Amino acid sequence: MAQTLEYNTEKLIEQDLAHLFHPVTNLYRHSQTGPLVMVEGKGSRVKDAGGKWYLDGFAGLWNVNVGHGRSELAEVAAEQMRRLAFQPTFFGMATPPAIELAAKLSELLPHHSHFQFTSGGAESNETAIKIARYYWALSGQPQKTKIISRRMAYHGIAMGALAATGMPAYHADFGPLPPGFLHVSAPYAYRNNPGLSESDFVAMLAQELEQTIGREGPETIAAFIAEPVQGAGGLVPPPEGYWQVIPQILKKHQILLIADEVITGFGRTGKMFAQETYGFQADITSFAKGVTSGYVPLGGVGVTPEVYAVVSRPDRMFMHGFTYSGHPVACAVGLANIAILERERLWENAALRGEQLLRGLERLLDHPNVGDVRGKGLMALVEVVEDKSTKKSFAPSQGIGAKLQAATRKRGLIVRCNDTGIAISPPLIITEAEVDEMLSILADSLDEVFA
Ligand code: PMP
Repeated sequence: MAQTLEYNTEKLIEQDLAHLFHPVTNLYRHSQTGPLVMVEGKGSRVKDAGGKWYLDGFAGLWNVNVGHGRSELAEVAAEQMRRLAFQPTFFGMATPPAIELAAKLSELLPHHSHFQFTSGGAESNETAIKIARYYWALSGQPQKTKIISRRMAYHGIAMGALAATGMPAYHADFGPLPPGFLHVSAPYAYRNNPGLSESDFVAMLAQELEQTIGREGPETIAAFIAEPVQGAGGLVPPPEGYWQVIPQILKKHQILLIADEVITGFGRTGKMFAQETYGFQADITSFAKGVTSGYVPLGGVGVTPEVYAVVSRPDRMFMHGFTYSGHPVACAVGLANIAILERERLWENAALRGEQLLRGLERLLDHPNVGDVRGKGLMALVEVVEDKSTKKSFAPSQGIGAKLQAATRKRGLIVRCNDTGIAISPPLIITEAEVDEMLSILADSLDEVFA
């Protein structure tokens, strides 16, 4: 039965300021502005403690794919907790939800046979990187340890994932980072394409990767890790052909491909996984977020039969895993969440509404401060610039991100705003009318901030 909860908002704000250490937040500014406290969600909308409803244009943190308020997921969690709240997958133990979710994922990603679970994206990428190194060590090539990733990549904030992340702001003052991580250019046409055709731009990126591999020596490189569509680092969909050319180079040099599908997995790009959207297959796939639509934390990695064959050897224990690898409650919710995605074919809505969103955002290109708009499925970005002809970005001192955030929130829209633009990633259930509402709020907010 749904309960009506009463909150003492003033007390919550006081306690937040006194005790909650917020991640990825300007802590000084937070002490001045206080928190935005959210208390309820239904469909694509969330309500704050003051009773105001917002369109959740960011689906939480790119993860609430099936939308808010799905009580069937709460029931599945409660039932699993009552029956058996926890047993590990260590030491060969298992629970029905962990087994069944692994089996379900092997249907959705048929090039992967085996799945190991984690509690989130960073843990998944740590796991993927360690599996890649372990694979080469057990293949008699223990010197293959380096990891290549791309600038603008976001792979999470645990030390290994952080070293693979290509966003300097996340590295600053947290060093030293572990050695052995290299970065190549992002396929970011707006600033990195010097005016070439799409196929020549791909060739340029391919040449850079070849040169990097040649310089380091392919015998020293374990894996290339990449988001099929870069997310937090600036929302970069790849140019046509990119995901055909890059895997070929990796194969030629015996470098494993890790696809970080933490955002793109579970429908967001218009197919269940972006590897299907772009027609390629990784050796290892990491996932999180959409696997449970954020109702409980869960992530994991899938590997090919070939990788699994190498790492399952009579003389070795696989000495990696988290207490919550395969948490039965999380896996039960994952299964029920995937059942919703499949029943409602939500990837199809992501493709359809994603087209509507991108066409709508393209109309904003007339705006004097909108430099670029780009997206794939239900992930999109409006890049703002101070000067369109030079593509000069706004200085952080201008506080554009904070102004865009205030303007959109005032109008009842939650999106991720920073000094370079607005990222949009709504639940995959969003309706045509809600996309229009979002577009009109975005247009009005840009008008206000840049008036
Ligand atoms: N990879 C990608 C592509 C992500 O977007 C994120 C989170 N935004 C992560 C990894 C890290 O996931 P988590 O925050 O769950 O550790």
